[in-house]
Amino acid sequence: MLYLVGTPIGNMGDVSERAREVFGFADLVACEDTRRTGLLLSNLGIKANLFSYHEHNKAAKGPVLISKLKEGQNIVLVSDAGMPCISDPGSDLVKLCIEEDIPVTTVPGPVAAITALVLSGLDTRYYHFEGFIPVPAKERKERLEALRSYNETIIIYEAPHRLLKTIDDLCASGFSKSKAAFCRELTKKYEQVVRLEMSEAKEYFTDTPPKGEFVICLEPTSEKTSSEDQDIDIEAMARKFLDEGCSTKETAAKLAKLTGRSKKELYSYTLNLLK
Ligand code: SAM
Repeated sequence: MLYLVGTPIGNMGDVSERAREVFGFADLVACEDTRRTGLLLSNLGIKANLFSYHEHNKAAKGPVLISKLKEGQNIVLVSDAGMPCISDPGSDLVKLCIEEDIPVTTVPGPVAAITALVLSGLDTRYYHFEGFIPVPAKERKERLEALRSYNETIIIYEAPHRLLKTIDDLCASGFSKSKAAFCRELTKKYEQVVRLEMSEAKEYFTDTPPKGEFVICLEPTSEKTSSEDQDIDIEAMARKFLDEGCSTKETAAKLAKLTGRSKKELYSYTLNLLK
């Protein structure tokens, strides 16, 4: 059986009784960082066989874990912090287990996203969990564009050294007037929630350099189109490229370059114009 076990996001007091029990009888504990999980378990006075399973070895190590599970081993999967499968490769292992009819259960624990959401003071009925916004420029642009279309509270994970860049990008993507809650060091001694408008955050975090891991909870924006889009008449441009003899694909690519929007979306937009 595979056990998805939640571990603390900072406060050792959040290890549950059931988590201790499951660690106690597990044949193997699969984790992202064996040193970090080793420390957690030694603090709990538990000796366990650790197995490295992370983003960069999951393709090779997933099948190894599956064959051990098929032999009848009890395997615990943990994240570096919080719940496995949330912004880590755990869900790939769960998918493999489901394909192979291997039972999966969980011992739930804290999740940084939900801990931040309940402290944010923003709408908790409807929310979108984004996790980390990708770093590569193209994917980043696409995700920022997608975030603009959401109508619910948005939850973002961010490391301290990237926080100012992300604040800049969110402001440029229409969120400058959105209320935001910057939640750091959750459940730890210096837990802090800074609530301000996104446009004020740049100055705040320039004066107070960000420390610790962050969760940003963000009000949706009412600006659903980018300033670039407002300046560009997409339909007129698409018709111009088509009239010049460009194919649908070429037109979509040119529009994507001009507007920063996704090629896929503009391809179907152009196809619709031709109907
Ligand atoms: N699996 C985890 C969960 O259940 O939330 C998330 C793992 S993800 C790799 C790590 C990110 O979670 C950090 O970069 C930060 O954004 C957020 N995080 C984790 N612990 C936190 C804490 N104590 N305070 C604020 N954010 C935290």
